[in-house]
Amino acid sequence: MTSQHPSDQNDNLRHKKDAFHLPEGVIYLDGNSLGVLPKHVPGRVADVVTEQWGTSLIRAWNSHSWFDLPLRTGDRIGRLIGAPNGTVVACDSTSVNVFKVLSAALSLRPERKVILSDSGNFPTDLYVAAGLKDLLAKGHELKIVAPEEVEAMLDDQVAAMMLTQVDYRTGRVHDMNDLTRKAHDAGAIAIWDLAHSAGAIEVDLLGAKADFAIGCGYKYLNGGPGAPAFLYVSPDHLDKVSSPLTGWMGHEAPFAFDLDYRPVSGIACMTVGTPAILALSSLHAALDIFEDVDMADIRAKSISLSELFIAEVEARCPQLTLASPRSPSERGSQVSFRFGEGYAVMQALIARGVIGDFRAPDVMRFGFAPLYLSHQDIVDAVAILADILDTGSWDRPEFKTRAKVT
Ligand SMILES: *Cc1c(COP(=O)(O)O)cnc(C)c1O
Repeated sequence: MTSQHPSDQNDNLRHKKDAFHLPEGVIYLDGNSLGVLPKHVPGRVADVVTEQWGTSLIRAWNSHSWFDLPLRTGDRIGRLIGAPNGTVVACDSTSVNVFKVLSAALSLRPERKVILSDSGNFPTDLYVAAGLKDLLAKGHELKIVAPEEVEAMLDDQVAAMMLTQVDYRTGRVHDMNDLTRKAHDAGAIAIWDLAHSAGAIEVDLLGAKADFAIGCGYKYLNGGPGAPAFLYVSPDHLDKVSSPLTGWMGHEAPFAFDLDYRPVSGIACMTVGTPAILALSSLHAALDIFEDVDMADIRAKSISLSELFIAEVEARCPQLTLASPRSPSERGSQVSFRFGEGYAVMQALIARGVIGDFRAPDVMRFGFAPLYLSHQDIVDAVAILADILDTGSWDRPEFKTRAKVT
């Protein structure tokens, strides 16, 4: 570390960076896609493998409370998103959880046929909604409108409004309180995808009266690649909804081996099959990091980092165009810039240790995870970006070949 940005001196989250395994020479601006490995996680997962699995074997389901791990992990996530204990469970993937909550939401409004979403939603949510609608074959319609048109489309036909709070491309954030209230005024159910919110911005599901929520474990929650996702059901609905995927883990008495399905009461009714204990253990351990931090501090630092990033890029890289809202209150924890050759520039950046990502057709995306980034990192990253643009060093064939994952 050669220099230190003045804002890093009074950063009350500064000590957290040391809790993460950051490879030498890397400035990681992609925590919104795959969070960084916390240093204590490998040891904890190794213990689950060698001690719990290796020695306790089948007994570990009881002796190490594996059976309750989805609920215990859910409660830890709940604290970050304003959800009371017993309303969140960590399970399955976000895509699968979209299927479950959307089905539950539609069952609460059987007389209505419209699923309302927006074109800023992540495609998997829309694909799952389209698949569910076809499977149900009850005449549902999936309406996809522009993000700013959602409000005007809320009418007495809408069964469920299903939105992702923070736009994965631009970082634009929907006003959850306001839109949920308007959805309820129209008699609709509100489903929120918190994939880019959980662990990054302040969320108050209970205060917003959100009906259902889902989100990812591997982004800002740092649970590891393919970590289980989470699912929230409002306490108002917990007794009224059921899962369309009626597996034995959602049964009232899985070990009674009854031939008939009877859902267990509480959030566990949204679980399906045997939980992925190794992946869940990684997510559960990673959440330790959040135990002594206030989401308000995370949000404040996220804004400080992203404001600095925008100012630096606009001062030093006039070739790029801001694709995110300018006002920090309208942004999540990421900033995107458009550039025609954005893919090649991003590859050149990654080759120099600054890791962001690219979303077609021309969006260079930078995520700001306040727990392991400093203001100095931002200044250093933009200096490299400016150098790549000024020298044209991105303009090489090896930076233009698209990989499978961008
Ligand atoms: C990342 C993301 C997903 C990913 O879903 P998986 O099932 O984990 O692949 C879903 N929805 C949104 C809004 C996302 O940003």
